[in-house]
Amino acid sequence: MHMAGDGAALVVAAAPRRMRNADAAWPYRQDSDFHYLTGFPEPDAVLALLPGRANGEVVLFCRERDPERERLDGARVGPEDAVARYGVDDAFPVEDIDDILPGMLEGRARLYCHFGRENEFDAHLLRWLRRLRSSRGGAVVPREFIALGHLLHELRLYKSPAELALMRRAARIAAAAQRAALLAARPGVAEYEVEAALLHAMRVQGAVPSYPPTVAAGANTCVMHYTANRGKLGRGDLLLIDAGAELECYASDITRTWPVGGCFSREQRALYGIVAEAQQAAIGEVRAGRPFTAAHDAATQVVVKGLCSLKLLAGGASSVMKSGEYKRFFPHKTGHWIGLDVHDVGDYRVDDQPRMLEKGMVVTVEPGIYIPPDDNGVPAKWRGLGIRIEDDVAVTARGSEILTAELPKGLDDVQALCAA
Ligand code: MG
Ligand code: ZN
Repeated sequence: MHMAGDGAALVVAAAPRRMRNADAAWPYRQDSDFHYLTGFPEPDAVLALLPGRANGEVVLFCRERDPERERLDGARVGPEDAVARYGVDDAFPVEDIDDILPGMLEGRARLYCHFGRENEFDAHLLRWLRRLRSSRGGAVVPREFIALGHLLHELRLYKSPAELALMRRAARIAAAAQRAALLAARPGVAEYEVEAALLHAMRVQGAVPSYPPTVAAGANTCVMHYTANRGKLGRGDLLLIDAGAELECYASDITRTWPVGGCFSREQRALYGIVAEAQQAAIGEVRAGRPFTAAHDAATQVVVKGLCSLKLLAGGASSVMKSGEYKRFFPHKTGHWIGLDVHDVGDYRVDDQPRMLEKGMVVTVEPGIYIPPDDNGVPAKWRGLGIRIEDDVAVTARGSEILTAELPKGLDDVQALCAA
C-alpha cells in the first residue's frame, strides 16, 4: 500500500466460481493475488486498499450471511466476522459495492488493478468509474490506471518465512505422494491407478494437486505435458511422474523418473545419469547473486556433453551448443518461479538482463532428456525414453534449500525404491 503511495487506490477481486459443465462447478480456488492480500476464501468478494482513509485503509466487500443459502452452499464469513477473522479494517456487503466503492475512489489520482483478466470485473470497474463521473459536484475521478501486476508480483516473488514453511509442507506431501504412487506402480497396471494412489496421498493430508499430474509410462514420458494417464505400465518402462501438492494455496512441483520393475536398462541408466548430473549442476547455480538463467546454462552444458558422448548428437559439444541442435532432445527450460502459482509470478528479466537470484525466491530445477519414439535419427534402443528430474529450490542467505530433498533421486536410491 505504501509502495502505491497516497492518492492511490488498489482494487482486487476474488476469483469467480467457474462452471465445469451445466450447473456443476469446478472446486473453488481463490485468486492467488486476492489470497496473498487477504487470505479470504470466498468468491464474490472485492478488496479495496485505500491509503489514508480515516475509517480504515483495508476494506473488504463480501457476501452477507444468509441462513437459507448457507444451508445449500455452506457457511459464509459475512462482513462482521471478516473484520474479526481476516484483519481487514472495515467490511461491507458486496451487494452494496456499487453504492459504496465509487465514493471511496473519489479524489484518488491513481487506481491500481488488473485489467483484462476477468471480463466481469472489468465491466464492474467501468461501471464504478462511470458512476463516479456522473455524480453531482464534479467528483475527482482517478486519472491514472496502473496494472497492479508488476507491483504486487514483485512482492510475491520474495517468500516470507511463513510462506516458505507452507511450501516446505506442500513439498513434503508431494514427496509422500510419489512414494505412495510407487507402491502402486507394477507392470500391467494403468497409469490412472498410479495417479489414484498419488491423489489419495495428497487428499489424506488435506492438500489438492497444484496442477493435473503427469503419470507417464513408456513412450508417454516423451510428451511434455501428458495428463491423459490412460496407458499401461510395462516391465522395463520408464515411469515419469510430475505432480505437485497445493497446501493453503501454496504449490509444490516434483518430477521423478522411475524404472518400472526396479532396474534401469543400460540406455535408461546412461540418460538418467546425464539428467541427474545436469540437475546437480543447475542446482549449484541457484544462489543469491547468480542470474536466473545460470541454472539452465549449466544444465544445458551437461546435457549436450552427455548426448554427444553417447553419439546421440553428432559434432562437438561447442557446435551443438551454438546450433541449438540439442533442443531436439531437451526442448524446454530448466525452471520457473514457484509459489502461490506453480508457474509463479515475477519478472524473469530486469532492464533486459536475466534477473539476479535473491534470498526468498523459489525456483524449480528440472532438466530433462526426451528421445521421441519416432526419431529415426537415433538407434531404436534409445527411442521413446523420456527422463526429467525436478526439485523445488529456495534461495537462502547462505546458498539454497531443496524443499523437495526428502524424495530420493540418486540412481541407486531410485532403483532400490522401485524394487522394494
Ligand atoms: Mg513439474
Ligand atoms: Zn515445473
